[in-house]
Amino acid sequence: MVMRALIAGNWKMNGLANSAAELDQIAAELGQLRASARADALICPPATLIFGFAERARSAAENGAPLAIGAQDCHFAERGAHTGDLSAEMVADAGATMVIVGHSERRADHGERDDLVRSKAAAALRAGLSAIVCVGEHEAERDAGQAEAVVLRQIAESLPDIAADEAPKSIAVAYEPVWAIGTGRTPTPSDIEAMHGKMREAMTARFGSAGAQIRLLYGGSVKPANAAEILTLRDVNGALVGGASLKAADFMAIYRAAIGT
Ligand code: PEP
Repeated sequence: MVMRALIAGNWKMNGLANSAAELDQIAAELGQLRASARADALICPPATLIFGFAERARSAAENGAPLAIGAQDCHFAERGAHTGDLSAEMVADAGATMVIVGHSERRADHGERDDLVRSKAAAALRAGLSAIVCVGEHEAERDAGQAEAVVLRQIAESLPDIAADEAPKSIAVAYEPVWAIGTGRTPTPSDIEAMHGKMREAMTARFGSAGAQIRLLYGGSVKPANAAEILTLRDVNGALVGGASLKAADFMAIYRAAIGT
C-alpha cells in the first residue's frame, strides 16, 4: 500500500461499558508499536459507547496511538423530530471523527437507498466528520455478472458533492460484498483487486489526481489469517472489519498485517 492505511472496526450492535477493556488493549498495543506514521486505527462502537471511547482514544493518541472513534450511522438532518436518530453533529459532539454510512445492514434493515446514503455522507461532512461510504453487490448480482455495475452505480449515487482537494481526507469508500459479510467467505484476491481497480478509476474520473489518494477499504470476513493477503492487493488501502474487530487480539493482528509487522 502506498498511502496510509485505515483499519476500521465496526462493532455493530455489540459492546457494553465493560468492552472498554478491549479498546484499552488496542490503544496500548498501538502505543507500543509506535505506528502513528504508518496506519490509522478506527473503532466504531455502538453509539452508547462513543463518548467514553473517544475520551480513552484521545488519551491514547497523546501517547502516540493512531486511534480514533467513529459512529456506525448518522441521520441526514442536523436536528429535529426524528425519534431515536442521531445527527452527525451529535456523534461529532460525542467525540467521533468518522462515520460509516450505507452499510449493507442499514441498507437491508432500514431500507436505506443511495440517495439517503448520499445525504448522510453530506451530513457527515457538514459536521466535520469523515465518511466511510459502503458499497457492495449481493451474491445474485455477482452471479449475474453485475457486481461491477452495481458497485459503480452505488459509488456514483452515494458519494456526496465535495471539492476534489477535500475528498481524500473527508471520504473513504468501503467495498463490502454483501455475501462476504459475516460469512467467512471472501472474493478471490483477483476479484478484489479488479473491483478496487474499477473503484479507483471511478475516483480519478470524478476527483482527478485527488482520486488516487482516496482510501479504498475492503470489508467482508477480513480475519487475521487472510488480512496480509488482502491488504497487500493493489488499490486496497485498508479494511473495514466486523466480527474480527470485537477482540483486540484479532483487530491488532489485522492492523499489524497492514503495517507489515
Ligand atoms: C462489516 O459488517 O462491515 C463486516 C465487514 O463484517 P465481517 O468482517 O464480520 O464480515
